[in-house]
Formats: sequence, structure tokens, C-alpha cells
Amino acid sequence: VVKDQSEVNNPSPQVKKDALIKKEWITAFELQYALDKKQFTLFYQPKLSLTTGKIVGVEALIRWKHPKRGLISPGEFIPITEESGLIIPIGEWTLREACRQNKAWQEEGHPPMLMSVNLSVRQLHQPGFVPIVQQILNETELDPSYLELEITESMLMDHEKSIPVLRDLKNLGVQISLDDFGTGYSSLHYLKNIPIDRLKIDQSFVRNCSIDTNDATIVKTIIAMAHQLNLEVIAEGVEIKEHLLFLQRHVCDEAQGYLFSKPLPPEELICILKDVEQVIPTSGLPKDLSN
Ligand code: C2E
Ligand code: MG
Ligand code: MG
Ligand code: MG
Repeated sequence: VVKDQSEVNNPSPQVKKDALIKKEWITAFELQYALDKKQFTLFYQPKLSLTTGKIVGVEALIRWKHPKRGLISPGEFIPITEESGLIIPIGEWTLREACRQNKAWQEEGHPPMLMSVNLSVRQLHQPGFVPIVQQILNETELDPSYLELEITESMLMDHEKSIPVLRDLKNLGVQISLDDFGTGYSSLHYLKNIPIDRLKIDQSFVRNCSIDTNDATIVKTIIAMAHQLNLEVIAEGVEIKEHLLFLQRHVCDEAQGYLFSKPLPPEELICILKDVEQVIPTSGLPKDLSN
């Protein structure tokens, strides 16, 4: 279902109401219990190449399957895992599960694709993080080139600590992308020094790129800058056809968003992999963009 621009800008009253309800019962104790009881699960959202229209990768996004309260999104509990330090074991679980799943799909005969996993600053700065990643790659037998770690600009604030870790991660052969680009403490100085492969344009710029000239300028400029720096660029939050048209016109490499698919549990994602045409609205295929 392709939404129009007015729906994008005006979330329903229910959506607003839900956002206001504070989940005060979510505590470190509950989260530790959830980890022990294996209540976390990963959903996967496809990333599409805008030149081929094909799925080139997926982003793993954690969910908490609470037995009574249902599916809880990471925005509700990740901050609490970060404060409590539980992000370390939960993040390690996520990384291992994402690598295991990617390898399993490859072994089932699906074309290999990139698996992206979000990192928190505490993970990146944890002593011995790089050997943990190495160990997970060994254990799961996933080729490192099929793993991408997503970091955010705020992690670069302490660049003296972060850059050596990122270099070591690159030396393992994994890819690194800078998530939510443009919303954090961007420093163009670090951009030329950090070993990254890809910029992810934050959804807040993509949302109005087809109707707001300032957002359009920002998106165009990020794409051009990324290419000048020999980085790939992906747009997140692509919800409507107008976004896609805009991004293709400005030669963005990849896109991710509800227009193609929301994040899906693995068994549903696999159906899309089998029948790639289904996710891409025919009107959104590169061929149709000329008319
Ligand atoms: P993110 O890494 O920027 O992930 C993109 C978020 O945008 C996801 O929300 C995704 O469901 C949502 N999204 C995707 N397409 C669209 C779209 O077209 N429109 C809109 N409005 N939203 C879209 P989600 O899954 O709720 O995750 C929120 C954030 O939680 C993530 O933002 C990431 O920062 C964090 N997160 C998720 N999983 C993990 C994890 O395993 N570890 C860590 N450290 N953080 C995670
Ligand atoms: Mg991300
Ligand atoms: Mg993001
Ligand atoms: Mg975000």
C-alpha cells in the first residue's frame, strides 16, 4: 500500500496517542529476563539497489516478543539496555543471530546479500569488541564481506576511541555504514578520515524531499558528497513513489523503506527473496521511471 504525502506528515491520532504512553514497566530486570527467556527476535527490512531494482541486503531490527504485551519496538527498550549495560549481551546476541540467519539463507541457496546490524556506542567502545565480531564470524562461517555494521555520528564524537576500532573492524573485512546521517553531531572533518563504506541519509530528510526544497537540497547534496568521497549512499524511510523518483533522478545507489517493505520476520522475508518482483511496485521499477 503506497501512502500519499499527507499521511506521511500527519500520523493518525492513535499513532500519536501510542507514542505518548510511557512504557514505565520496562526495566533492566525485565530486559535481562527477556534475554534469558529468548524473547528477542530480529525482523529484516530489505534494501534495494536503485539501478537494478533488486534486493541487495537487509537490515536486522530487533523486536521484543513479550508473551503478554506483544511486539515491542526497539525505540522503547534500546535506551534502557544502553543505560543498564545490557546492550552488551543483547547486542552480541543480535550480531550472532543476524550472521547465523544470513549464512543459513546462503546455504538454502538464496543469492548472497549484505546483512546490516545496528551498533550502540557501548558495544563499539567495549574492550575486546573486535575479537567478539571475529569469533561470531568464525562460529557462523559467514564471509565478513556480507556483514555491515551501522554506526551513528554520535559514536564519532569520541573519535580517538572509535576510529581505531573501526579500522580494526574494516581489517576483518566487514563493511561499515553511517546511519541517520545528517542528524547527529556531523563533522565533515571526520567524514574524510573514518573508514566507512556507505552513508545512510536519515529518513527525516527523505520524508519531504519531493515537496520541500530545503530537504531536496540536503538529500541531493549528501548524495553528491558521498559519491565524491567514494562512498555509497542509501536513503532510508522511502515511503512513496515520489521519494523513489526523486532519489533515482539524483542517482542515489540504494533505498530502504515502507514503499518496498516494512521489516519482516525471517519466514516472511524469505518469501520476498524468492519472488523479488513482488516487493517492488512495477510503477517503481527503473524502466517505468522514464515516463
Ligand atoms: P534505524 O537503524 O535508523 O532503523 C530504521 C528504522 O526506521 C526502523 O525502526 C525501521 O522500521 C524504520 N523504517 C523503515 N522504513 C521506514 C519508512 O519507510 N518509514 C518510517 N517512518 N520508518 C521506517 P525500528 O525497527 O523501530 O528501529 C528504530 C531504531 O532502533 C533503529 O533506527 C536503530 O537505531 C535502533 N535499533 C533497532 N534494532 C537495533 C539493534 O539490534 N541494536 C541497536 N543498538 N539498535 C537497534
Ligand atoms: Mg540502522
Ligand atoms: Mg537510520
Ligand atoms: Mg533512525
